[in-house]
Amino acid sequence: MEGKGPADKFVYDFAEGNKDLKDLLGGKGANLAEMTNLGLPVPAGFTITTVACQRYLASGEHVDGLDEEITEHLEKLEEAMGRKLGDPADPLLVSVRSGAKFSMPGMMETVLNVGLNDESVAGLSAQAGGNDRFAWDSYRRLIQMFGKTVCDVPGDEFEQALHNAKTAKGVRDDTDLDADDLKKLVGVYKEVFAKHVGHDFPQDPREQMDLAVAAVFRSWNADRAVLYRRQERIPADLGTAVNVVAMVFGNLGADSGTGVAFTRDPGTGEQGIYGDYLQNAQGEDVVAGIRNTVPLQDLEQIDKKSYDELLGIMATLEGHYHDLCDIEFTIERGKLWMLQTRVGKRTAAAAFTIAAQLIDEGVIDLDEALRRVTGAQLAQLMFPRFDLDGEPEVLTRAVGASPGAAYGEVVFTSEKATELAAQGKNVILVRRETNPDDLPGMIAAQGILTARGGKTSHAAVVARGMGKTCVCGADQIEVSPSSFTVGGHTVNEGDVISIDGTTGRVYLGEVPVRPSEVVQYFEGDLDPALANEPLVAAVHRLMTHADERRRLAVRTNADTGPDAARARRFGAQGVGLCRTEHMFLGDRRELVERLILAEGGKERQEALDALKPLQRADFLALFREMNGLPVTVRLIDPPLHEFLPSLEDLAVHVAVAKERGESAKRSEKMLAAVRRMHEQNPMLGMRGVRLGLVVPGLFAMQVRAIAEAAVALAEEGGRPRPEIMVPLVGAVQELETVRTEAEKIIAEVVGDAPVEILIGTMIEVPRAALTAGQIAEAAEFFSFGTNDLTQMGWGFSRDDVEGAFFWRYLELGIFGISPFESIDREGVGRLVRIASDEGRAARPGLKLGVCGEHGGDPESVHFFHEVGLDYVSCSPFRVPVARLEAARAVVLAQPAG
Ligand code: PEP
Ligand code: MG
Repeated sequence: MEGKGPADKFVYDFAEGNKDLKDLLGGKGANLAEMTNLGLPVPAGFTITTVACQRYLASGEHVDGLDEEITEHLEKLEEAMGRKLGDPADPLLVSVRSGAKFSMPGMMETVLNVGLNDESVAGLSAQAGGNDRFAWDSYRRLIQMFGKTVCDVPGDEFEQALHNAKTAKGVRDDTDLDADDLKKLVGVYKEVFAKHVGHDFPQDPREQMDLAVAAVFRSWNADRAVLYRRQERIPADLGTAVNVVAMVFGNLGADSGTGVAFTRDPGTGEQGIYGDYLQNAQGEDVVAGIRNTVPLQDLEQIDKKSYDELLGIMATLEGHYHDLCDIEFTIERGKLWMLQTRVGKRTAAAAFTIAAQLIDEGVIDLDEALRRVTGAQLAQLMFPRFDLDGEPEVLTRAVGASPGAAYGEVVFTSEKATELAAQGKNVILVRRETNPDDLPGMIAAQGILTARGGKTSHAAVVARGMGKTCVCGADQIEVSPSSFTVGGHTVNEGDVISIDGTTGRVYLGEVPVRPSEVVQYFEGDLDPALANEPLVAAVHRLMTHADERRRLAVRTNADTGPDAARARRFGAQGVGLCRTEHMFLGDRRELVERLILAEGGKERQEALDALKPLQRADFLALFREMNGLPVTVRLIDPPLHEFLPSLEDLAVHVAVAKERGESAKRSEKMLAAVRRMHEQNPMLGMRGVRLGLVVPGLFAMQVRAIAEAAVALAEEGGRPRPEIMVPLVGAVQELETVRTEAEKIIAEVVGDAPVEILIGTMIEVPRAALTAGQIAEAAEFFSFGTNDLTQMGWGFSRDDVEGAFFWRYLELGIFGISPFESIDREGVGRLVRIASDEGRAARPGLKLGVCGEHGGDPESVHFFHEVGLDYVSCSPFRVPVARLEAARAVVLAQPAG
């Protein structure tokens, strides 16, 4: 095989691989190879690569050259073991095990005892010292697993046959069946097999093996594996490796057994002996829970030699991997075998505490600790959690759009939500979908549940911005004005439900909630009793180091003083996006309506004059909270439909009023305006800079309010650092027009005051990205609006697509995750890169940031670091996550020491 590369070498002996080859050999194969090379007792075997799997799945057929390679490695395996596969007199048996790059526990298939047939069953019995019962039991397990996995025989038919055998004998346990019973059962199993498959159970050992390998390949695309990958964001095209391993048996008597072990406590990180052992059993018996395991410590009494050897191996593995390892092992007649190891999974809390502990033990340094925790884990620690001990009833499961745990009385309107919240009640706002009118209710509610829309729907984006729990896209629920139904349940207004914005689960009744001590720590109001708690101490230590290591600054998207204040406590270094349109809602709506309905310049100016002091006060509050730090205020960018009453509602209102002979003058005027302004594609319509260029005085009013607020703060002795941002620019001329007017106003308002105001633009229209060199001439900064850039880059409507067809795209692997959630590096990311490079070439030192939702997504933060942006901006709750990931982007780019 010398000279073959991963593309055409499909099989690796364990001695040929190592732990860094997970892409090719899967996690299990790579670690079996690593253990083999460490000289640990691993049964001989080989790994068929993920590339072979990918080829098989792409063509659905035999992979050229694979058979020959398997033959070659099988021969070596036979030589090492001194036995031939399925030899009637003295058979080598193998297990055929799946093992992908990322662990997908129980999602794919494994077939044990391959090589057994009507003849070799006798040879196995002889090997086992004349143990007929063991041999026939092994054979019936093979037919059962092979039938189910390879040939899709319904598993319950085998279960039923086993049950019948026990009933006929009048016994309860499998272990009460003797060799003869099992031999008969093998006969029945073979009939079941032939009935379903149309031919007899294959007797040729090699044929068994080849069919099992192909079945493991196919199990990559089993429904549950697909679902798991989607949840865990594992790309659909990786494929699984297949490990063919000489069988060792833990079920050969009291001197045999099987177990699992951890090198330290996966819950707390403490070093010690953690694990379980099951005497006289195979791994599958442990999973099936047939008998109770004993604590691993008991192995010391049962088999001291193996126990001591295991402890030695555990120490070797920890020393080698510098981390918590989990291990599967089998003891066959007093001989210990290692079947698997990997760096062990752990809870989010344990990830932080273990990392801190390993620093204390001198095993890793602070940089390595940052590599070992993730922003997703930190996010998990920041949300309150449900206490599920009471096993509450699950009503439905939908999209976990904004994490957290909330319960409350169900309400169906924003008004009811505010009314009940004012009485001190917890409410959950349930809507088919939300729109900006629902904002007061969303603020008042503990959580939001919608029947439509995905992770970038209005409900999801706004809820995330507020750090409010939200579950959306619950399409099994039918929402009516005062109740909703789901799976036979009717939930009425006032009934209590609980929603989990992390898992997307909706529960009936009130599920108790635990607050997050990590948030209390960030907020600075931690109960002193918790200050020395290991988790909080570990988070503090790692975050402090993260802030020292990161190059990217982290700002926040915040529209109000309180939001900005909270974000600052969470470590935000400024505001990257204040969406001013949010300031035009609620009781200011009427003023906006006046503006829209204004006939002539005078009426319009009056409406603007009424809005200006309110805006000024908003900005001053924001500047005060961010005193000394930059605050990017975006000029108004509403798709107009979000501000106008619905055409249908107005038409009905006017018709009803007319029928009753009542006056509906204002509504009629509004109806005419709404008709006039109606757009087929509001997201591509009168938004952003277009609105500013068409409605005279609108941007001017906002610029004036910003400048006045800045001067007011400077007069208070503060240090305002406003940045005015123009949305939806696609051509430099748009920006220049706004800039010229804005500069005039700023000069007029600021005069000699010590206030500097930058003017820049969002880059969120593809044309802006492609003409960034020109645009940079008129912009002191760029902020990438990756929500719109994704929408317009892909041509996907951000409000509609997730529920509509993204599932199919994910299924097909067109993308592994919604491009609205994590930046599409090759496409939209390329636009960001082009704009950054060309913008900076035209204006060296051009300040670059991102304020789309991607600014708080871990993977995207890494990308923005690589591109060389100056900052990311995200919702207040994601600020700590972005701080951590910005540092991880630095340390992950450097090899571990
Ligand atoms: C964006 O488009 O990425 C952005 C931040 O603006 P908005 O989401 O308000 O359109
Ligand atoms: Mg936008």
